[in-house]
Formats: sequence, structure tokens, C-alpha cells
Amino acid sequence: MPNSIQQSETILILGGTREAADLAKELVAAKPEARIITSLAGRTKEPAPLAGEVRIGGFGGIEGLALYLTETGVTCLIDATHPFARQISANAIQAAEIAGVPLEIKTRQPWAKQPGDNWIEVETLQAARDAIPPRARVLLALGSQHIGLFVSRDDVHFVVRMIDPPEQPLELPDHALILGRPGDTPAVEAMLLIAHSITHIICRNSGGESAYAKIGAARGLGLPVIILSPEQQRRN
Ligand code: NAP
Repeated sequence: MPNSIQQSETILILGGTREAADLAKELVAAKPEARIITSLAGRTKEPAPLAGEVRIGGFGGIEGLALYLTETGVTCLIDATHPFARQISANAIQAAEIAGVPLEIKTRQPWAKQPGDNWIEVETLQAARDAIPPRARVLLALGSQHIGLFVSRDDVHFVVRMIDPPEQPLELPDHALILGRPGDTPAVEAMLLIAHSITHIICRNSGGESAYAKIGAARGLGLPVIILSPEQQRRN
């Protein structure tokens, strides 16, 4: 849809995070005259409703995004994607330059280690796998695309939490699958950790609030967290 005269601003939010959803809500309320569009990659089958317009699916690389910005009359591009979504953030920088559209980067900062945190900081997913002690019970809080690497740990019981059911059955030899979003509070996450007798958590240091409850729960229970940072993930 071309930009109308009344629509002085068209803001494209690269989303897929709770922060991006909050931002869309704020902008829709603050700028009723503007067109606010959130872009999702389409990884989640039933994304939570968002304020403003939503478009779903890849743009087709840097050129595709640049073309979209121009054709849609985007006046401001905001990158509010997940810190581990590296490709789209890199594409946004170049596409914004090609299209001559200002880019605001609002990707969140990784969590800082707090007193009481028992973190085993690792550089790669392979190192995370190798850091699991024998016969541990692990909450594997990683995207489904990273789970295959842990198949070789047939001595470990994994608890895997996913928003959508996996397309193929998980190949982990000993696992429990929990479908749903992370709990909102450390207390809710602690109940899950206790119910499954979890001894270790494996996750990425993705920052933000929505996945932080498990870190607080682990701190409270004194559980070790094997954690990857976005900088380290780049080398995987
Ligand atoms: P990625 O590796 O950086 O991007 C891969 C490709 O997916 C991009 O080149 C782009 O395709 C498309 N894409 C990614 N984000 C998009 C968006 N918001 N709108 C339209 N197309 C998008 O991304 P990813 O790590 O797969 O993450 C995909 C989405 O999930 C992001 O929106 C991110 O915020 C969200 N998310 C990611 C993680 C994570 O751990 N990576 C966690 C939670 C949420 P084209 O090149 O065709 O444009």
C-alpha cells in the first residue's frame, strides 16, 4: 500500500521479540497518524497479536529489504530483533543505507552476571554440550535448530521447551518435551526445574526480560547455567 499524504511517517519494526511488540504498542499509541508495521520472519506458527500492521516472511536478503523500504515508503527502520538474529540485523544496516532510510538499533543487551549466579560461560554449542557432566538432567532452552548437536549425550536426560511442536520427533535419546512459552517469574520457572529434578540449564545469553525468569530461578536454587553469549555464538 503506498504511503498516503495523511501518513507522514511509516515505521518498520524488525520484530520477533517481546520488546518489539511493546515498541509497536507504544508507537501505535504515541503516533496515531503514522503507519507502524512489524515484520516477523514467520518462525512462530501462531504469533501473539501485535499493535499496528504485521507482515510475515523474509524480504529476500539485503536488496529485498531495501526494495521493501523504498516501495513501502518507510521513513524509519527499527531493528528490535533478537540479539542472536544476526543475519537480519546485518541486512538491516546495509538495506537502510541503500534505501536512504534512518535505522535505529534497539536490540537488547546481554544479561550481566549477578552475585549468586553459577554460570559456566562457553564459547560454542559444542562446548556447552561437552560441559554437561555425566547423568545430568538438563533444561535445554535453545532454538530447535540447535538441539541435534546434543543427540550424542545419551547419558543425559534433557527437558526441552518449545513454543510450537517440532516438525520431526526429537532425536534426543532421553528427553521430555514441554510445549509452551517460558514462565514469567523465577517462582514459576523454579517449579518446573524442581518438578523435573533439573541439575543444569543450557541457554544463550539473550538479554531482555522474557527469558530471564529461568536465570533468576537457577540463582535461587543454586543451579549451574551453561550459557552462550551473542558474541561467542558468532563463531559457531
Ligand atoms: P536471522 O538468522 O538473523 O535471519 C535469517 C533470515 O530470516 C533473514 O535473512 C531474513 O530473511 C529472515 N528474517 C529474520 N528476521 C526477520 C524479520 N523480523 N522479518 C522478516 N524476515 C526476517 O534470524 P533468526 O535468528 O532466524 O530469527 C528470526 C526471527 O526470530 C527474528 O525476527 C528474531 O527477532 C526472532 N527471534 C530469534 C531468536 C534467535 O534466537 N535467533 C530468538 C527469539 C526470536 P531474508 O534475508 O529473506 O530477508
